[in-house]
Amino acid sequence: MGTIDGLPPLREVIRAHDLVAKRQLGQNFLLDLNLTAKIARAAGDLSGCDVLEVGPGPGGLTRGLLAEGARRVVAVEKDARALPALAEIASAYPGRLEVLHGDALELDLGRHLAPPVKIVANLPYNVGTELLIRWLTPDAWPPLWTSLTLMFQKEVAERIVAKPRTEHYGRLALLAQYRCEARVVMSLPPEAFTPAPKVHSAVVQLTALQAPRHPCDFKVLQRTTAMAFNQRRKMLRTSLKALHPDIEALLLRAGIPPTARAEEIGLEGFCALARALHPA
Ligand code: SAM
Repeated sequence: MGTIDGLPPLREVIRAHDLVAKRQLGQNFLLDLNLTAKIARAAGDLSGCDVLEVGPGPGGLTRGLLAEGARRVVAVEKDARALPALAEIASAYPGRLEVLHGDALELDLGRHLAPPVKIVANLPYNVGTELLIRWLTPDAWPPLWTSLTLMFQKEVAERIVAKPRTEHYGRLALLAQYRCEARVVMSLPPEAFTPAPKVHSAVVQLTALQAPRHPCDFKVLQRTTAMAFNQRRKMLRTSLKALHPDIEALLLRAGIPPTARAEEIGLEGFCALARALHPA
């Protein structure tokens, strides 16, 4: 059966290049081009954008991004075995796909991209959270990217969009929601991937906000939430004691009962506390 881009179906690509999935590289491939096009569409209009994709593998999502009209795709892949398959895609879309061979955690990706940039990826599970944290904590804001459309294990996706007083609420939710609109836009069962992982997956859409929802010093917010959630079952007056000699008074000034626990406090409360600790 033909494909929308005239390239071979992904099962054939995998067979031709002997791309047997390696667990240590987090390789769970998406082979349905309708599905990869749907993920690309979840990132919105790509036509005027450079798209950064981490881990293109055999190129299912890469093909979705190009077919959906991305101006350029820069794809960084650690596994050299995938490079010939990706070179075939680059030939089918002249001048629109740049493939970088290397580790996304080590390469300086910014210099390969021109704004506006969207990041879209089915992330390897072993480095996914680390990459997300780096993207959410750039040296300066606004960051290089305008949106992130990322596939994670469902549990990680739930941690990103979690609200206070729920099981998955913690530092990752606060970090993500401080300067982004974050929502789950798609859920996928294990069978959507080859090989099928043990857990369900979900695509999260994070859109950068012009300004933080509640202004405060970001470094102070990070330090405060790290301490608060390191001892999430303790009362804040105890877990945050080392932050300030009169932490109770500052908690009260921020409208937070000193006996509350970290998981009961929303983003607004933590930002108010960061302002009390470090007035502008
Ligand atoms: N995008 C493909 C798809 O959706 O079918 C493959 C996704 S697979 C979950 C993750 C991909 O990331 C693999 O191709 C793997 O080789 C690659 N990878 C793993 N660690 C990496 C790293 N540190 N830097 C770049 N790529 C990496």
